[in-house]
Amino acid sequence: MSAAHKLEEDLLSLFVVESVQDESGLQKYLRRVLEVATRCFRTTGASIFLHEDGIYQLAAKHGPGVRTPDGAVIEPGFGLAGEAIAEGQPRIITEGERSDISSSLIVPLMEEGFCIGVLNMARGHDEPHFGPTDMEYAQGVAGQIALAVHNARLFASTREIGRLKRLAEVGQMTAAIAHEIRNPLTGIYAAAKMIQEAPEMAPEMAEIIEDETDKLSQLCDEFLEFARPMRLNLERAQLGDVARGVARLVNSDFEQAGVALELKSAKVAKEIDPRRIEQVMRNLLQNARQATPKGGTVSLDVWDWGFTVRDTGEGMSEEAQAKLFSPFFTTKTSGTGLGLSVVQKIIHAHGGHLSVESALGEGTKFEVHLP
Ligand code: ADP
Ligand code: MG
Repeated sequence: MSAAHKLEEDLLSLFVVESVQDESGLQKYLRRVLEVATRCFRTTGASIFLHEDGIYQLAAKHGPGVRTPDGAVIEPGFGLAGEAIAEGQPRIITEGERSDISSSLIVPLMEEGFCIGVLNMARGHDEPHFGPTDMEYAQGVAGQIALAVHNARLFASTREIGRLKRLAEVGQMTAAIAHEIRNPLTGIYAAAKMIQEAPEMAPEMAEIIEDETDKLSQLCDEFLEFARPMRLNLERAQLGDVARGVARLVNSDFEQAGVALELKSAKVAKEIDPRRIEQVMRNLLQNARQATPKGGTVSLDVWDWGFTVRDTGEGMSEEAQAKLFSPFFTTKTSGTGLGLSVVQKIIHAHGGHLSVESALGEGTKFEVHLP
């Protein structure tokens, strides 16, 4: 492999950013950037400054030739490096005899017209000064390095966000579990008190205690179902058959609510876990029925790519749509908000995906795509 080819490959490798999941990952990544940069520019030392709150702070350094002190900053417009940032152009700085560096190359990392950082390369007295060829080279690769570093930083920061989001979800989940458990507990406590005060009420109170413990146990099942990794028993099945079976099951609920249920099905065989898909259809139909006033219609349509559940119900606000699949999001007094989380988990386990369209006061459509 030629040297130029190797460098090209080194540069390309900077676009692999999967390992940049947090600050320490970013540190490692930046040191890799500097390793590549020192090879590209044949220098003994390099440092990189990154934009943060209007200034450029030293983010990493590499090699024995680097003299940048820890905590160094560059202010745009100030000093030779600051001028290079303001101009967006690389610049060679020749140092005096007293410095142990003979010359430096300052390369602003421009991404879409904005300087996201600065590469600072140094050569010692026993190395040749930076010259016009290096300038040209810098102009060529700076854009690539800038884009790669920009991607890596974005990747690191969204993963941060991801963790915060998960933490928030755990908090939300804990609050919801506590809330769900407290209701039946209050019932059980009241019934026990009653038995103490009026022992003749014991048989009646025992029934309440039994009901409330059933509720708690059901709740535990639901929570566990939600937390458990999904295992599928795949078989080739007719989607239409599953839909017809579900429609039969929920028919009386729809009749009671005065909501019409329409079923249209194409002949489609798919590799699915029929019981899980049944669960998905049941959940979506139940939500649709609950959202639809008397006289409305809910349709379950099977297509060759999957199925849809449409209703002419209350619809959802944009805000509700954004939280729809978050566990424990519910607008119902007796809802657990786990239905759609489980639905999503099942569909993803099948390698499929689902989407929602909804308009307040007009209705909602869930589209389920199965591979
Ligand atoms: P739950 O039914 O226990 O509330 P889900 O996860 O099944 O939990 O649904 C979460 C929320 O999404 C519901 O509380 C409701 O606000 C909203 N939602 C789901 N399906 C529909 C629908 N077809 N029409 C309007 N809102 C819906
Ligand atoms: Mg539901």
